[in-house]
Amino acid sequence: MAEQGGQVLVTLDGQVRDADAPLLHVDDLAVVRGDGVFETLLVRDGRACKVGLHLDRLEASATALELPLPGRGLWRRAVEAAAREWGRDREGWMRLLLSRGRETGGPATAFVSVGPVAERVLRARRDGVSVMTLPRGYSVDLAASAPWQLAGAKTLSYATNMAALRHAQAQGVDDVIFTSSEGRILEGPRSTVVIARGKTLITPPPEHSILPGTTQRALFEVAGAKGYTCKYEPLNPVDLVVAEGIWLVSSVTLAARVHTLDGLSLPVSPAAEDVASMVQLAVETVGSD
Ligand code: PLP
Repeated sequence: MAEQGGQVLVTLDGQVRDADAPLLHVDDLAVVRGDGVFETLLVRDGRACKVGLHLDRLEASATALELPLPGRGLWRRAVEAAAREWGRDREGWMRLLLSRGRETGGPATAFVSVGPVAERVLRARRDGVSVMTLPRGYSVDLAASAPWQLAGAKTLSYATNMAALRHAQAQGVDDVIFTSSEGRILEGPRSTVVIARGKTLITPPPEHSILPGTTQRALFEVAGAKGYTCKYEPLNPVDLVVAEGIWLVSSVTLAARVHTLDGLSLPVSPAAEDVASMVQLAVETVGSD
């Protein structure tokens, strides 16, 4: 088992490696071009959550980039070995990474790693987050009109997402909701936006050039069975202001309740407890196949 604070690394040949030893070549296209895709999963009780949904999305992202994808069986074996190695007594933050490999040619680079869940994640789960809306600088049509922009694929090119978060944090705000050039709600830099309107949960349509979220999808499966109506619907900033609850949902943070939006303090949602418990149930029961 990995030591407290240490990381776990498993390559797709199933080998558990020394996570402190160098792994990538200097010309790996992950490093020099961000030319690859990834997934982030929660490890809980010694197993990775929603593996099937993450492998589906990894496959879709790899297809969008025309990347050769190692077989699902190899990913599953590496994921299981890494989760086992991480152990059952603490949560972990798992990454699946696939790059085009070296610039000079050869096989793709692929590995699974697990590290500790960041303190900020635990805070966001517990206390919720303040959020500012920021323009993304493109239309909801980007994915359809310019497929080479890879909107909707989870590529390694997250520099602009991280820059948006730094911009917010410099102003004392925890997180961001991006808006399109038409002013539609898109997503967070690392999360899906879900709002409540009574017993209805709503999220923007994935066709609006956003990443289809596995947590939101799992939540919708569970919520449907618990008496909630779940919808994909274009949203405007005003829909957030009048919503009875806004959450940023994602695989490791799970559900972060938005308590402040663009400086406006929001009341606690009547659906807050339901959403928190449904997300817990969703990540533990949906999408493992
Ligand atoms: N949107 C973006 C841009 C993300 O980076 C993420 C998570 O990494 C999500 C949405 C939420 O996806 P998931 O629920 O699969 O973690």
